[in-house]
Amino acid sequence: MEPVEIRPRVAVSSCLLGAPVRFNGGHSRDRFLSEELAEHVEWVPVCPEIEIGLGAPRETLRLERSPDGPRLVTRRTREDLTAPMTALAAGRAAGLADVDGYVFKSRSPSCGLHGIPVYAESGAAADRRGKGVFAAAVTAARPELAVEDEGRLHDAVLREAFVERIFASARLRALLSGDWRPRDLVAFHARHKMQLLAHAPAAYREIGRLVAAAGERPRESLACEYGLAFRAALAAKTTVGRHVNVLHHCLGMIGRELDPVRRADLAEVIASYRARRVALAVPLALLRHHAKGAGAQYVPAEYVRDQTYLSPYPDALRLRNHVPA
Ligand code: SF4
Repeated sequence: MEPVEIRPRVAVSSCLLGAPVRFNGGHSRDRFLSEELAEHVEWVPVCPEIEIGLGAPRETLRLERSPDGPRLVTRRTREDLTAPMTALAAGRAAGLADVDGYVFKSRSPSCGLHGIPVYAESGAAADRRGKGVFAAAVTAARPELAVEDEGRLHDAVLREAFVERIFASARLRALLSGDWRPRDLVAFHARHKMQLLAHAPAAYREIGRLVAAAGERPRESLACEYGLAFRAALAAKTTVGRHVNVLHHCLGMIGRELDPVRRADLAEVIASYRARRVALAVPLALLRHHAKGAGAQYVPAEYVRDQTYLSPYPDALRLRNHVPA
């Protein structure tokens, strides 16, 4: 399969790309997002605090406990901004229907996804279980969306999982935005089978049944159900064991084309990955090489070669190079 060229559309907290929109007039530019990932995605920058009419610099905000849930309040003048922020999020969530993911700024009472302090009105006793008001509303409206914050994206495993999801979502969006037929969805699904199997074996089988009946369903309901099931399956965590299972599936399909020495080499590299001595990139590179080199008439090799599992995103991102813990 040729390198993936599709560009996911990804919403992002503007300050992470270097926009001077923070409360102090500064930014929180993140190098991975603004340099490496920027080469491969189309960013949709959003600063909710600016969009509700606050300037930069501005007074700082915080979350305060209330019986109806956390309120977004200015620290000094005590203005409650929960209603405009929630209204903005409702409109933005609808307007962002075509994005494939969202990277939120961590530790923000508007954008933070996890662990935001929630204060008592007195200013005491913060607990750290809050979520930014804007982020909470957007994620509630779009539960299937791939979301992360820039802090968690410094973790190699979480980064790879997020990038894989946004590229898969973008491929599906590209298909469904065109004049597709059931057979196109069947072909799309066939290319993603190993990727789905690496994430969620049970969902892989269920989605297979859905696609098998593709021609008997109205297009809109089929697209909607497939989209939700596909994105939910890819949100499930991969494991070393699941990757090994997929690698063996692929080896089984192309193994007949390989001489015994090459077949044994590939099996040995898969075993090294299972023993956590090499990164996933190592058996995958060998598998890709053999799938490309197998006889042109050999249908199983063509099937393996076209699997998105082998190239789920551009190689330049170098995301499968970590040895599993
Ligand atoms: S964290 Fe969100 S609200 Fe704060 S500056 Fe960044 S984009 Fe704006």
